[in-house]
Amino acid sequence: MQRRTLIRNLSLGAAGVVLAAPAVQAQKKYRWRLATSWTPALDVLQGNAVRFAKVVDEMSEGRLKIQVYAAGELIPAFGVFDAVLQGTLQMFNAAAYYWAGKEPATQWFTAMPFGLNPRGMYAWYYQGGGLKLWEETYAAFDLIPRPAGTTGNQMGGWFKNKLESMADLQGLKFRIPGLGGKVYAEAGTTVVLTPGGEIFPALERGVIDGSEWVGPHDDMKLGLHNAASYYYYPGWHEPGTTGEFTFNRKAYEELPADLKAILDYAASYCSEQMLAEYEAKNVVALNTLRTRYQGQVEILPFPAEVMGNLRTLARDVLAEEANRSPMAKKVHESFTKFQAQISPWAEMTDGAYHRLVRG
Ligand code: CA
Repeated sequence: MQRRTLIRNLSLGAAGVVLAAPAVQAQKKYRWRLATSWTPALDVLQGNAVRFAKVVDEMSEGRLKIQVYAAGELIPAFGVFDAVLQGTLQMFNAAAYYWAGKEPATQWFTAMPFGLNPRGMYAWYYQGGGLKLWEETYAAFDLIPRPAGTTGNQMGGWFKNKLESMADLQGLKFRIPGLGGKVYAEAGTTVVLTPGGEIFPALERGVIDGSEWVGPHDDMKLGLHNAASYYYYPGWHEPGTTGEFTFNRKAYEELPADLKAILDYAASYCSEQMLAEYEAKNVVALNTLRTRYQGQVEILPFPAEVMGNLRTLARDVLAEEANRSPMAKKVHESFTKFQAQISPWAEMTDGAYHRLVRG
């Protein structure tokens, strides 16, 4: 209907007055609290949570206001899952692999070593049944997850000493979450999980010998380049890391349908914005490391032998980890099947293209 016709029809309502649309009638306002696992120094991750709250506020015209708290402001970094499960807060923003102790299946929803890249992850969530499996996994905790944005392919991380062979991984104390951590553990590494905001002091004091986080932009925000010298790539352990916006089921179900839809649209929008921000900012930070920190920081590819061995180890570790729960088995099967399906297409397009334009 043409706008002019619509206006005329509205103004010629039965009683000759403009009728109020149902959508603007008196509506209940909701106040939510969102806690993240991020320190405020992580401007992209914490900024994405703040962006989410802003977008929801704008789209709902103030009917759903979300107050955002960084790690430790209200809830410790790794306490957010329980806080939302218990209903202390209505939602959190973190990464599902932090909850491996609750249910091993959660790890695949963040990243799988030698698994899918960001495009593949989103294809799996929305077209390959990944999000349905994530919802099924979280239903046991009365939580509802949504993909919150991807960091892109990560860096392998920071090492205090040069990594020459598999022998160097033995006895090393390395900070890494999720399935990648399980692979290092199999290689003889002592794996620790430290929240982002606590990595620098642990690395500087020698409590750990190395750590991965995300990529040049975030890692520099955390100061990791001032605590270790060798920076390895690629992020074989996290090729398409994706975060989560997760809601308390009761709080979510209390919302009218339009506000529920707004949460979904906001999560999708923030996903796109977060990847864009990382892609643009990582290369700026990488250039800074290469120029201003030349001589202090060495950026190196993992030795081919180490990559080959970790890849072999990863197959066994993933199969073993998948056997730890029926849900993990189901998720692992879905993920690996989907990856096998889409890999030929990614190879013919992305793979071939990147080889062509390289250098
Ligand atoms: Ca990481």
